[in-house]
Amino acid sequence: KSTTQSTPPTPTTTTDVDNPSHPLYRHRRTVADFVYGPILGEGSYSTVLVGEDKKTGKYYAVKKLDKAHIVKNDKVKYVMIERDALSKMNHPGIVRLYWTFKDNRSLYYVLDLARNGELYTYIRRLAPFDMDTARFYAAEILLAIEHIHSRGVIHRDIKPENILLNDDLHIKITDFGSAKIISPDNASKKSDGNYKYKGELSFVGTAEYVSPELLRSEPTLQEADLWALGCVIYQMHAGRSPFKAATDYLIFQRIKNRDLNFPEGFPDVAQDIVEKLLVLEPSERLGSEATGGMDALKQHPYFEGVNWETIWESPAPPLK
Ligand code: ATP
Repeated sequence: KSTTQSTPPTPTTTTDVDNPSHPLYRHRRTVADFVYGPILGEGSYSTVLVGEDKKTGKYYAVKKLDKAHIVKNDKVKYVMIERDALSKMNHPGIVRLYWTFKDNRSLYYVLDLARNGELYTYIRRLAPFDMDTARFYAAEILLAIEHIHSRGVIHRDIKPENILLNDDLHIKITDFGSAKIISPDNASKKSDGNYKYKGELSFVGTAEYVSPELLRSEPTLQEADLWALGCVIYQMHAGRSPFKAATDYLIFQRIKNRDLNFPEGFPDVAQDIVEKLLVLEPSERLGSEATGGMDALKQHPYFEGVNWETIWESPAPPLK
């Protein structure tokens, strides 16, 4: 029988098709092109498996999403946002989306494999991190956030569970299901008032890392990710998140009141940067446009000695 389909134009080189800007980039693989290995983890409507590309022998993380479950639970929007936001990203600190495909039951996202799991696990095991380790991860997270924002996206769920580590213990930020894509015409964020965002103020993210502006029902903009960065830096030095409490309600009270305290032995320079990130007013947060943007944040003494250009090629501090 004939297997001829409309044959796509043959690309001149393989690398062309591996380029996200190539029109065929996402159509080159199907379910049958991978050998599936162990389950890496499960989400509320997804399973993530190791997948080996039969053509190249390369390993990926394949996120398999159950279509019926997504529709039934009204998650279509989040799944689409995750795909759309991820496909805008091209950065060593962010999980790359290589291909998407589907079969009758499932959608599949083929992603960078981050074999060392979540930063969260290492914080649980090893915190407080020494200064070099915490500074290294804070710097990589900062650069990844800078890239996300440069592509017109706000992540809105930065937390140690969503910061994965690859073979070399460099970060790969994942989980763009809560992201917000700022369309080019409202990318200059101050131009439109609250109305544009009014419909989108439903709770997104995770209680402990949620920004105070979201709790005040104000629009959440790029600065929400700076708040979350402050929470992650705190957590690496303290071993716990800054606004921890028994219930979500109590967490929200602590956040709204900026009920912030530092344990004994918390390094002064880390306390200073955390205090400047965990600021109730988003525009006053270090790294906000009004304070001089990410460049101002990079200048903070906490980051002294960081080589921003070579960090992705440099060895990660040993996580032991
Ligand atoms: P939920 O959807 O409920 O918020 P989740 O975001 O953790 O959960 P998934 O994105 O499906 O759900 O991830 C499930 C688990 O698989 C995660 O806990 C993570 O540890 C693991 N995982 C996800 N992506 C990768 C990856 N690229 N490499 C390695 N492990 C991954």
